[in-house]
Amino acid sequence: MTAAEFAPVFRAFVEANDRFILCGHIRPDGDSIGSCTAMAGLLKSLGKTAEIYYEGDISHYDMIPQPVEMLDPTTIKAACQRPFAWILLDCAQPARTGQGQICAEYCKASICIDHHVNMGEYAEHNWIDPQATSASEMLFRLFKAAGYPIHREQATSLFAGIAFDTGGFRHSSMTPEIYTIAGELSGYGVAITDVMNGIFHTKSMIEQKVLGVILRKAKLYRGCIIVSEVDQADLRQAGGTSDDCEGAVAVLAETREAEASVFLRELSNGQIRVNMRSKQYIDVAEAARAFGGGGHVRAAGCTLDGPMLMAKQQVLTELYKQLREEP
Ligand code: AMP
Ligand code: MN
Ligand code: MN
Repeated sequence: MTAAEFAPVFRAFVEANDRFILCGHIRPDGDSIGSCTAMAGLLKSLGKTAEIYYEGDISHYDMIPQPVEMLDPTTIKAACQRPFAWILLDCAQPARTGQGQICAEYCKASICIDHHVNMGEYAEHNWIDPQATSASEMLFRLFKAAGYPIHREQATSLFAGIAFDTGGFRHSSMTPEIYTIAGELSGYGVAITDVMNGIFHTKSMIEQKVLGVILRKAKLYRGCIIVSEVDQADLRQAGGTSDDCEGAVAVLAETREAEASVFLRELSNGQIRVNMRSKQYIDVAEAARAFGGGGHVRAAGCTLDGPMLMAKQQVLTELYKQLREEP
């Protein structure tokens, strides 16, 4: 489906409702925050009420303006007691929103706009485009196709979302058209240096220390899969938490020898959160789906039960299956 095909559905949905709750996925990233804030900004400019539900730390993304009230796990249930329409962005499964999934029960209408592969269709109206770099790119196309205006704050959100999901306009998902979209968005007055530095080149001292541990513990398997891990003891020693490892997998992926990169972190509940990236031929989304996770061919994630050693072996075994298929 194209943006032009979805635009009439979207316009009718916006016009038929006054109050909206927007959800991205748990552990919000630049694209889920960018797409939710851009959508909220549009709805606000149209005189509608919108609230965004966040589950997880968003403090790393203070370069993205927050135009509306924010909901969290302590307020989402009460917010669902008044009539609302639900917009699911940057994820297709209600469960990926964490406690936001309660919206599925109470909403009077719903739409989903997402770009992940093979995650199903759970909303009333779904626009899923796995070719898109980001949900933010899809919103840019949709706002234009629907004839809605884009203001500076929304442009900042969309630019940040696209920048985040393309690794700073670098990933293989980039096309000449995406550079053109980024150029057009920057023309709305986006503070590009702040956005790019804020997303990609800003770490706390603790995050730098944790990164040091992660690099020291990195190992190369079968000459092409780099793996590193941190457990709760490592994090305590560095004075950090499992939130202090965002971006670590991208640093591992800089390793020349690595086709695939795997980063495992032990969460406070003992589960193991896994981030995976690849460069040429390994489909990490397929590997992540084997453990109930998902994502994209070149970037995916999943959460396994501990202990760490077992989780690591399971993930490696899954990736090795794809190595054998390579000539
Ligand atoms: P991450 O490694 O968390 O940065 O995620 C990489 C990509 O995979 C992002 O597009 C995520 O939204 C997606 N992803 C991560 N974990 C999951 C999951 N459990 N289910 C579906 N998609 C996921
Ligand atoms: Mn995302
Ligand atoms: Mn995304």
